[in-house]
Amino acid sequence: MDYEFRVIVEKVSVTTQEVVKRDTLKIYDIKQPESILDLGLRHEEQISLLSKVQSALLSEQSTLIDTGVTQCIKCGGKIGKLGFQPSTFHAVFSDHKLRIQKHRCKNPECRWQSMPSVLSVFGTDTHPDLVKLQCENGALHSYREAQDNMERLNAQRRSVNNHVQIKNVTNQVGERLSQANTTPPDQEELPTPAAELIAQVDGGHIPTKDKDKRSFEALSGIVYRPSAIEVVDKHHRQITEKTCVVSALEDELQTIKTYLHHAALKQGMTEETQVTALADGASNCWSVISVLELHCKALELILDWFHIGKKFRNVSNALGETFAESLDSAKGSLWHGKVDDALQKIAMLRDNISDEKKQTKLKGLYDYLKNNSEYLVNYDERDKAGLAYTSQVAESHIDTLINARHKKKQKMQWTRVGAHNVLQIRASMISNEWSDNWLDLVLPEEEKAA
Ligand SMILES: [Zn+2]
Repeated sequence: MDYEFRVIVEKVSVTTQEVVKRDTLKIYDIKQPESILDLGLRHEEQISLLSKVQSALLSEQSTLIDTGVTQCIKCGGKIGKLGFQPSTFHAVFSDHKLRIQKHRCKNPECRWQSMPSVLSVFGTDTHPDLVKLQCENGALHSYREAQDNMERLNAQRRSVNNHVQIKNVTNQVGERLSQANTTPPDQEELPTPAAELIAQVDGGHIPTKDKDKRSFEALSGIVYRPSAIEVVDKHHRQITEKTCVVSALEDELQTIKTYLHHAALKQGMTEETQVTALADGASNCWSVISVLELHCKALELILDWFHIGKKFRNVSNALGETFAESLDSAKGSLWHGKVDDALQKIAMLRDNISDEKKQTKLKGLYDYLKNNSEYLVNYDERDKAGLAYTSQVAESHIDTLINARHKKKQKMQWTRVGAHNVLQIRASMISNEWSDNWLDLVLPEEEKAA
């Protein structure tokens, strides 16, 4: 005996259970599956079936849409029904035409007609679930890659997922997030006060659209409790709970300072909190961190050992084998907090080397340490006491934040505001805030008020 498989939708009276409408959406053959491909429905068919189910439900819902029109908006006269206005709606995987009730003014002198649409009623024609996917893809990939990803996921090309559209949506949501980050967290959002916090500030360069410059700087900060550091294995650690912020705006560091302050509050900073801050030594980074000083018990600034190590490696590579031992000895002095010893050793090398290039390298290292000498500590002691002195753990976050999206991609060029907005979404994802906050950011204003 042969059978077929029907997918049917029914409209049923809730009280009487009477079926008032029945539609066959699709009929499939029931055949013996000859390969794994034959099991169930294929990707494209699933989306197509889903689209048919959506259309059936939407046609029932669309007649119930309240357009809010109760009288003529021109003359205030009575209105009558006048057929339906077709209007586009973008669901997460499919596009639909909804039919929305139209009205006309009964006053023969006026004859005003309403032009209702999904947009006019709901403030947007796109379902928030789709906006969410667009933002997530737009924040993680170039806009063209995002378009490709959306097409693959959706098994079809849709104009709503065009790269320009994804760019606009991502930018808009990022802008809202940027705005939201300027307000301090609500009292009830605050966690239990933290006795200690670690803060790190770092910079990265983003290629610019500006013809006179090659790049501009974005600054990012991350705040976490020492207890949030989790050992993965011998060489890897991760920070389980953190707040990450970033700014690409040129505003004398105002925005990043405000964001960092709010990030510290979200991590439980009070006037009783001891804050340890790590930075690579750039003066703007220290300046950003200084914003915390007024709001905590004590702020200790430490030149990040990770960056010191990087500088030494850089100079060591340029100088070659011959000088490796002397440089290591200087680094060893630094590790033990003997700053003057270390500086003396580097100065000796610098003054006794004839190669001009190598001398410049050594001068750079000397000046770097000299300029940051007040932030040099006894790293060995801190290491033994289990205290923070290196950003290595969180370095990857700051790196992924700026670099993944803004550096490696095919010659993507940015305006400061454009980069700033998209980075807000990435920071929110890294801070694990996006999943809780996206809906508020994606919903149009009028929906939120309702
Ligand atoms: Zn009228």
